[in-house]
Amino acid sequence: MSNDKIIDKPECNCGTVAAYGHPEAAYLTYLALYALQHRGQESAGIVSSDGEKMFQHIGRGVVADVFSDQQKFNRLKGHIAIGHNRYSTTGRTSFLNAQPLVVNMRGGSLAISHNGNFTNSGTIRKELVKQGTIFQTTTDTEVMVHLIARSQKKEMHSRIIEALQQIRGAYSMTLMMKDRIYAMRDPDGVRPLCIGKRDGAYFVVSETCALDLIRAAYVRDVRPGELIEISSKGLKKYRFADATTVHKCIFEFIYFSRPDSRIFNENVDKVRRKLGKNLALESPADADIVISVPDSSNTAAVGFSRRSDLKFELGLIRNHYIGRSFINPQQRMRDFAVRVKFNAVRGILNGRRVVVVEDSIVRGTTMKQLVKLIRQAGAKEVHVRVSSPPIISPCYYGMDFPSKGELIASKKTVKEICEFLDCDSLAYLSIEKLLESVSPDNGGYCTACFTGDYPIAIEEKIGKYQHE
Ligand code: 5GP
Ligand code: MG
Repeated sequence: MSNDKIIDKPECNCGTVAAYGHPEAAYLTYLALYALQHRGQESAGIVSSDGEKMFQHIGRGVVADVFSDQQKFNRLKGHIAIGHNRYSTTGRTSFLNAQPLVVNMRGGSLAISHNGNFTNSGTIRKELVKQGTIFQTTTDTEVMVHLIARSQKKEMHSRIIEALQQIRGAYSMTLMMKDRIYAMRDPDGVRPLCIGKRDGAYFVVSETCALDLIRAAYVRDVRPGELIEISSKGLKKYRFADATTVHKCIFEFIYFSRPDSRIFNENVDKVRRKLGKNLALESPADADIVISVPDSSNTAAVGFSRRSDLKFELGLIRNHYIGRSFINPQQRMRDFAVRVKFNAVRGILNGRRVVVVEDSIVRGTTMKQLVKLIRQAGAKEVHVRVSSPPIISPCYYGMDFPSKGELIASKKTVKEICEFLDCDSLAYLSIEKLLESVSPDNGGYCTACFTGDYPIAIEEKIGKYQHE
């Protein structure tokens, strides 16, 4: 696909970190970014502050590559820091879009790290451009920065709140001034964000697995519609919107978050196992073994195996050392990319009737190749079980799904997909069982990718030029 075609892909699901009050703030931020690497591999960055001055290092690639130079790392001084992992998109990977974004404005320098996607940034941007504003990047984050800069309110938190009240969409953001940090989550609570503490220092991270690594204790989630300020005066909270109805992204449980994280007050591992168990209940298969597509469906496959009494085996092996450049092939190369990533274990699959549990089918490319691979390894039958419902609609809230036309389930029935994949049977988890797998006391979820029912209004324009 030509990169020029996608003018302005939505901001993507990323990893965000902030640290306040620790002498090794940048180092702990770096570790936290390591733990959140799965949330983005396109670029990584840290901006730190010693209370007077800011220091930054941002680069393309994974955390290990970006921060490989010890000397450069040592320049990230101070007791305050924020960090960001940007998710790879199939579209524009302009370096200008790398984060944290640092700007100077009335009131001092500001660095911002964003996870999510604004759904009305086109309208705001157009209005700002009309008034003479110059944009350097195509990101939502810059829209946010301009809104803060233009606010005539006196205090920083009031300026941020004024900006947030003009924005719609999904976001979990951290922001740093030279002497404090802020953290905020959209009123629908779409993306996770939580607060931790260690040695009197505060940390804000996308997922709890990052707190575990830096040995910070989990304090609580940043609440939907809440702005947190952490400074020498301690933690202050401000509510900038009523969050009476929340719409947390259920796909965070299905695929995106790490199973060792606790998000939205539930363990990802537990929910994912339940998805697998419910899938086995709804759509059992007459087979000999269950295998997963590592790593993303491991936990659901264990759940399926438990409930169905079929043995869980490691029938596919994943190569973990494939760089970004390979993952982004031309369409005709995509098939080959799957084979580089996975190989089948003949000794396990030969002569067996196999259930393959997959967490989701997006285009169908991965599964089609895997079925072929599993058959070539001698499997007698291949039964595909998907621990989420068919994805029929794009995500406008930060998940990196392709356009509607590319989503296989938007065009084909389950039977047709089964034929396309060339498997012996195919079943998806129902929406009812999906929702039953998360705690009912835990508020609402966004299931738009499975229903086409978007809880947060979307600009028409996004649908037009970004997704068709
Ligand atoms: P497909 O080949 O059907 O397009 O993609 C399905 C595979 O992509 C599954 O193995 C699933 O774990 C993974 N997947 C699901 N959602 C996402 C996403 O948002 N981004 C990426 N990179 N992979 C995804
Ligand atoms: Mg996968």
